Amino acid sequence: MSVKNNLLAIRRKIEKLSKNVELVAVSKFQGIDKILEAVEAGQKVFGENRVQEAKEKWVEIKKKYPDAELHLIGALQTNKAADAVEIFDVIESLDRLKLADVLSKEMQKQGRRVPCLVQVNIGSEPQKAGISPEAVDDFVRYCEEKGLLIRGLMCVPPEGENPMPYFEKMQMILERHKFVTLSMGMSGDFECAINCGATHVRIGTAIFGKRD
Ligand SMILES: *Cc1c(COP(=O)(O)O)cnc(C)c1O
Repeated sequence: MSVKNNLLAIRRKIEKLSKNVELVAVSKFQGIDKILEAVEAGQKVFGENRVQEAKEKWVEIKKKYPDAELHLIGALQTNKAADAVEIFDVIESLDRLKLADVLSKEMQKQGRRVPCLVQVNIGSEPQKAGISPEAVDDFVRYCEEKGLLIRGLMCVPPEGENPMPYFEKMQMILERHKFVTLSMGMSGDFECAINCGATHVRIGTAIFGKRD
């Protein structure tokens, strides 16, 4: 199975369910060769979960393919915020007040407003990052007052459970706001996520194969 064939197969499955879903190809831990295979097969949007790794790979790739759009999908430490604002086109993992403060300052400093998604801890799992479902409305207001561009919501539902009730809950929170983006669904559950209103799915292994 090649990256190209995997991509085509995934795109077909997505399009069967909805014409308005953006595929974010999650290229974390993947080498530049595989990423270029995806770019050359027409893939435009990618997700990485670590700032340092993304910088090492994407500064080069973007020189050749400036249209590629890079999303941060993993936890962001505040001391990496400057780099993140510089290299990412969307930050999907805005998950705490302190980070909102730092990103707001950094974006003003760089004169670059990177759209953000609020990461919701939809299963209210103690070990997981994200804003609790009850706190989303206040958090969004706080971020917007700080000048951040909040485009929507992102989540990773609890592992080993039926994700559907969590996806449905995300959709309900989204509807309270005038958001355009709902990022949910990975290799194992993207079809369910699309049926629950996802506008962005983040897919890694089903495109690139297992990560080392
Ligand atoms: C790794 C990762 C994905 C992709 O997961 P796959 O199961 O490989 O499709 C999606 N979202 C986040 C936040 C991730 O960390």
